[in-house]
Amino acid sequence: MATEVDVAIVGGGPSGAAAAYHLASAGRSVLVCERKTFPREKTCGDGLTPRAVKALRDMGLGEELGTWEQVAGLRVHAAGRVVELPFPRLERWDDYGLVKPRKDLDRIVLGAAERAGAKVLQATKVVEPRFRDGVCTGFVAERDGEREEVAAHFTVCAEGAATRFARSLGRVRDAAYPMGLAIRQYFRSGLQHSGWFDAYLDVRSGPDMVPGYGWIFPVGDGTVNAGVGLLSTYGGWRKVNLHDLQRAFLAALPADVEVSPATACSPPRGGRLFMGQSVWPPAGPGFVLTGDAAGMINPCNGEGIAYGYETGTIAARCIDDALGSGTSPTLDGYTRELEDTYGAYYRLGRRFVRVIGHPVVMDRLVSMAMRSRQTMEFALTMLANLEDVRPSDMSQRGMRLMKRLAELKP
Ligand SMILES: Cc1cc2nc3c(=O)[nH]c(=O)nc-3n(C[C@H](O)[C@H](O)[C@H](O)COP(=O)(O)OP(=O)(O)OC[C@H]3O[C@@H](n4cnc5c(N)ncnc54)[C@H](O)[C@@H]3O)c2cc1C
Repeated sequence: MATEVDVAIVGGGPSGAAAAYHLASAGRSVLVCERKTFPREKTCGDGLTPRAVKALRDMGLGEELGTWEQVAGLRVHAAGRVVELPFPRLERWDDYGLVKPRKDLDRIVLGAAERAGAKVLQATKVVEPRFRDGVCTGFVAERDGEREEVAAHFTVCAEGAATRFARSLGRVRDAAYPMGLAIRQYFRSGLQHSGWFDAYLDVRSGPDMVPGYGWIFPVGDGTVNAGVGLLSTYGGWRKVNLHDLQRAFLAALPADVEVSPATACSPPRGGRLFMGQSVWPPAGPGFVLTGDAAGMINPCNGEGIAYGYETGTIAARCIDDALGSGTSPTLDGYTRELEDTYGAYYRLGRRFVRVIGHPVVMDRLVSMAMRSRQTMEFALTMLANLEDVRPSDMSQRGMRLMKRLAELKP
């Protein structure tokens, strides 16, 4: 039997769950089809920056967040130095981050969407879209070997890096844009309550310092999430084996960190990071793409959870408006809002990661920056995209200036 809803969503990760939460809260009928059964493992660093904290609070999870592992900021290790950078106190964003394994995080957020009124079908794989006169009118889903037609006024593609559904909507990632590759693993470690996101910038492939970083994030349950990520702007990235990179990162850690193959408690798992607004336009007749499906990971730091929540929220608002006003099904307003919100910053990010793709430049920049606290504070604001309501200090003013410069021709 066919199901009919206002909005049908492919995927119950951060962006699908956020879209579902906000649409259901606005009184729309929503169906989320998620191919996995939650709780499920998800390859991720599990790090939530102040942007993600805000998005979670906006979904009514403020109280719940109080019980999660909290971090004060970023502790950077490079060029023989260690710099502790607390998150700045700002009007727009909180001044702390969180760590929550995705196995739990995604279950909690999808649960919030369900409580808001969204219907969630797990173990249900979306197979293909349906079109009428060129407009997406829903999809076909498969559950327990049975196929079901889902008819919807609007469809949200929140499938992450799977790409299959997006392709069938005619949307593919621009291969000329930067991409990330990363691998992570859990370890038992004394750093379990370190209070920081530890970032190690001296990641090497042979003699080359590559654009990327190694991380150790405290989970708070006796384990840490440690991994390493690399950008495709490094010329030799295709030849880099992520498992070798992770082994080299672990081997270079000081012994007192207690993160080594001997303390591993899960196998290493890797994945791709679609970044820099690399799938464009993110909307079409009857559909939108959110989160990784729209290539929305921040190229400067590899953060994608917050951008999943944010794009899911923007999509929900645009769809709710379109349903309310009965306007055209193309959702151009969503494309415009993503451009207005992220366009300049992502153009800046794409240029920045091209520059650091050269090992010599990366090496020099890192050793210069690590000598200046002010530069590192600015770097934290810029790389975590923490622009405030007002340009209150040097970091904020610097970030605005950089965004304006990025709009100029090279
Ligand atoms: C190693 C690694 C480390 C990372 N670390 C961080 C970090 O520390 N912090 C951070 O912010 N970001 C991090 N990221 C990025 C982050 O994981 C993603 O940006 C984020 O998961 C995007 O959310 P999403 O909802 O767009 O997609 P996803 O989280 O991928 O969710 C998509 C969902 O859709 C489901 N799905 C897919 N196809 C179908 C289908 N056909 N039918 C039904 N369901 C389907 C999937 O099962 C999945 O649950 C990391 C990524 C990697 C690879």
